[in-house]
Parts: sequence; C-alpha cells; structure tokens
Amino acid sequence: METDDCIIIGAGPAGLTAAIYLARFHLSIRLFDCGSSRAATIPCTHNHAGYPDGIAGKDLLALMLAQAERYGARREAVEVTALARDGDDFGVRTDHGEWRARTVLLATGVVNHRPDMDAALHDRALAAGLLRYCPICDGYEVTDKRVGVVGTGDHGMREALFLRGYTRDVTLVSPAAVHDLDDACARALDAAGIARVEGPCGGFAIEDGRLALDTAAGRMAFDSVYPALGSRIRSELAVAAGARATAEGCLEVDDHQRTSIPGLFAAGDVVKGLDQISHAMGEAGVAATTIRNTLADRAPLRR
Ligand SMILES: Cc1cc2nc3c(=O)[nH]c(=O)nc-3n(C[C@H](O)[C@H](O)[C@H](O)COP(=O)(O)OP(=O)(O)OC[C@H]3O[C@@H](n4cnc5c(N)ncnc54)[C@H](O)[C@@H]3O)c2cc1C
Repeated sequence: METDDCIIIGAGPAGLTAAIYLARFHLSIRLFDCGSSRAATIPCTHNHAGYPDGIAGKDLLALMLAQAERYGARREAVEVTALARDGDDFGVRTDHGEWRARTVLLATGVVNHRPDMDAALHDRALAAGLLRYCPICDGYEVTDKRVGVVGTGDHGMREALFLRGYTRDVTLVSPAAVHDLDDACARALDAAGIARVEGPCGGFAIEDGRLALDTAAGRMAFDSVYPALGSRIRSELAVAAGARATAEGCLEVDDHQRTSIPGLFAAGDVVKGLDQISHAMGEAGVAATTIRNTLADRAPLRR
C-alpha cells in the first residue's frame, strides 16, 4: 500500500486551508470529507475578513476547494471510520477502503445540539436568520432586536449576557421544565435585565416573520433565537487512537497543533478555542507548516 505524506480528515475551513498549504509544499495528500461542514450552513457570514458584503458559507468552501484543486488536491467524499497508529505511520479506514499516511490532520469540527424541532423548519429558520448559533459571528445582525436564548445554567447565562451587548430585549428560555441557575447566575441575569422564562420549550413555528415557541409563560415569538445547548465534538477517531482530549472532547494540542500522538495534528473547532472560520484557518496554516517540517526531519524534502 502506498504511504501518503498526510491524510486530512475533514474539508471545512480548517481542512481546506491545510490542503492548500500542503499541496503547495509539493506533498502527497488525501482529503477525506463526509460533507457536513458547519460552515456550509452559514447563510452569509459578515465577520469573515475580506468580504465586505459578506459571503455564504457554501460559496466560501467552494472557493477554498477550487484553490486547493488548483494545486492538485482532491476532496474525496468518504467518511473515515477508524484511525490507528501503525509503526511510525497511520492506518486510516474509510467506508471505501484503507489508506496509510506518515501524518494525519484531524479537522472534523463539531456538531451543534439542536432544539427539538422539525429538520426542514430548522433549516428554513436558519436560512432566514430566525435561528442562529453563533453570537460572536452574527450578534451584530440582531442589534436592537427581540432575542430568545434557549438554554440554561452557566452556558445559557453566558450566551444571554453576550447577546445583551447587542440588544436590551433578551429572554433566556429553559429547554426543560425549570431553569437550572444558581444564585450567581440568577443575579447576573437580573443585573443585566435579562428575562427568564421556564420551559419546556417546543412547538417551534415561523409566525409573522418571527420564530415562535411554547414556554411555561405561553407562546412567545422572537426576531432570532439562539440555541445554547452545547455541541458534540467530533474527536472520537483521535480519542480512540489514544489522543488526549478535554472532558468535553476537544483535542488537546500544543502551539504547533500537535496532539499527544506524534504525527497526529488537529485544527479548527475540534480543538478547544474560538469556534470561528478565521481561527480554523490560522490553526490549519500552523499545522500544515509543522507537518511539512516534521516530514522534512524524517527525510529531506528536495525537488
Ligand atoms: C449557523 C452557523 C453560523 C456560523 N457563522 C459563522 C460566521 O459568520 N463566522 C465565522 O467565523 N464562523 C461562523 N460559524 C462557525 C464556523 O462554521 C466554524 O467555526 C467552522 O466551520 C469550523 O471549521 P472546521 O473546518 O473546524 O469544521 P467544519 O467546517 O465543521 O468542517 C468539518 C468537516 O469534517 C468532516 N468530517 C467530520 N468527521 C468526519 C469523518 N469521520 N470522515 C470524514 N469527514 C469528516 C465534516 O463532514 C466537515 O466537512 C458558524 C457556525 C454555524 C453553525
């Protein structure tokens, strides 16, 4: 079996940035992706630098892929199902076969936990900006609007407080029957003038251009709703191979994006950090350059 210089798992902003760098380093790479980048769900990003009129996540990914392809990289639409150390190299199993590489970059991202609502409605609400997942990205767009946050506990409180920087009208709605807020959380919410409503929330529907939902206080409607329900970190391949991760599952890396397994790198949302496109790209640039230098230490890279 042929051994590639690097297998990149995931073709979101992190994986595609790495593909551009590694292909331009004249390395042999494979780029496996199962087609569920969070970036593909962004209707139009306005905080990603370089696009003053914003750009749809799908368009940004298409441009990045075209750039990677210009240097010979190819995105293969497959899911990686297993990753294991094999001597100094790695064995990578996909639903289409097995591959071998000297290094692996995990750029598999995260999956947001969604509120309990119909998938088609979810996607329509997301496209219309009625449902939003990232206040850092698009809090600006809800300036002075009526905003609901579905969440509770520390996480829900922090999201609601962050959004209070954009609008006075923030309501924290409990996903379950009662809020789980300690005194400190409750005091912080009160001090910021954030309303609290018990759940369970459900019955989501688009009504009069707003996203409406049932709460213990009756039906409420918001210009935008932010679920603050956490996410699943897609680090399971690396964790099963023995890589160290935080309690939530984020991969631990050093400042060169090296995981605790030599030769295994990680970048983007799967690593603990700012879950942003720019951050994913920056980490991938660092990872790709370290991968190149690691390979050069093993055997000189000469034209
Ligand atoms: C609604 C929404 C709006 C957002 N808006 C913005 C914004 O305006 N600005 C901003 O900076 N950020 C925004 N973000 C965050 C941004 O999308 C992420 O930070 C970014 O996509 C992270 O890139 P990534 O490459 O790490 O992961 P992802 O983009 O999620 O890509 C991971 C890739 O890995 C693949 N993968 C996973 N597991 C496997 C496997 N086993 N085998 C093969 N492939 C696999 C997936 O299919 C996916 O394509 C938003 C997110 C959401 C959900």
